[in-house]
Amino acid sequence: MTSLFPALERIRTDVRAMRAYGVQSADGCIKLDAMENPHALPPALQQALGERLGRLPVNRYPHAAQVEQLHAALLGHAKPPADWALMLGNGSDELIGLLALACAQPGACVMAPAPSFVFYEMTAQQQRLRFCAVPLAADFQLDEAAMLAAIECEKPALLYLAHPNNPTGTLWDTGAMQRIIAAQGAQGGIAVIDEAYQPFAARTWLDEVQPARDAHVLVMRTLSKFGLAGVRLGYLVGDARLIAEIDKVRPPYNVGTLNLECALFALEHADEFARQAADIRAQRQRLMNELAALPGCTVWPSEGNMVLLRVAGTAEGAQRVFDGMKARGVLVKHVSAMHPQLAGCLRLTVGSAEENTQMLAALRAALSTP
Ligand SMILES: *Cc1c(COP(=O)(O)O)cnc(C)c1O
Repeated sequence: MTSLFPALERIRTDVRAMRAYGVQSADGCIKLDAMENPHALPPALQQALGERLGRLPVNRYPHAAQVEQLHAALLGHAKPPADWALMLGNGSDELIGLLALACAQPGACVMAPAPSFVFYEMTAQQQRLRFCAVPLAADFQLDEAAMLAAIECEKPALLYLAHPNNPTGTLWDTGAMQRIIAAQGAQGGIAVIDEAYQPFAARTWLDEVQPARDAHVLVMRTLSKFGLAGVRLGYLVGDARLIAEIDKVRPPYNVGTLNLECALFALEHADEFARQAADIRAQRQRLMNELAALPGCTVWPSEGNMVLLRVAGTAEGAQRVFDGMKARGVLVKHVSAMHPQLAGCLRLTVGSAEENTQMLAALRAALSTP
């Protein structure tokens, strides 16, 4: 029991009972725990970016013109329907928080399949919203009947579908998704399609969107997995009337001048990032092949830059493999505690060719030492 001094008691009791979002220390390890792009910018681009950033007026708040330039560049990149609007977030994490804030009415519910991205639930709790988790089917696809029943019963204000999903890497069946999104719209709720892993996926929901029908659909993207995790730049696109309401709870100047410029620079060099994504997809295939051949392991198809691997029947078994890999200098994510369906699972971020070679060697060694 930590002792309280009076000011601490002014912090909400439920906040004091929360656990902070954990970031593992990577100290000297090959870092394959957070879906970062392993590729640095080529030196010539690093220098060009540095010169551009050096000229920016950091004594001023971000200029509206710079923000508008990035809006235009992102709309050109993502190509949502012509009359859809866009808003920027300091990472898509900020947008997920703003969505919960904007929808925080008494009794409101946030829904997502489980296991999925933990921040949907954390931000719901922060706003004292009910969170309703609908278990995925055994193959990690959406349980369509369960989702439709839960939508009908709970009438969620927000429904999140991470497409592809984290940590499973799954891209949902298009028909099931269509019916679930339609049901969410029919009961007057908002559907948020979180496409953080779009650079590595075969499909985007933007190709399915029909603006006249889908005013309740928002598509969220981020430049984090694309290759700019350090820049913190997420964006949300959707019907202009809906975006305008959510934008009211966005802190002014939420994306800094340096971050705006980095994002602009990256989009001007989108071909370089597309090459990196192609390399990561090829490395993902190589990992899938090698992991599938490991005795006693199960691997699921992935459309993201991570692979979910069951290494043991229990959390303790997976913890031993995780510890063995860490002792050999490779940090991955042990996800057993996230959800019962993930018991015994590790989530491996796809790294560079060399990193993956070392990761596979560490994994084989950890698996063979009891
Ligand atoms: C990583 C991730 C995010 C967070 O992205 P940021 O833009 O870095 O905040 C959002 N959604 C999903 C599903 C993710 O895996």
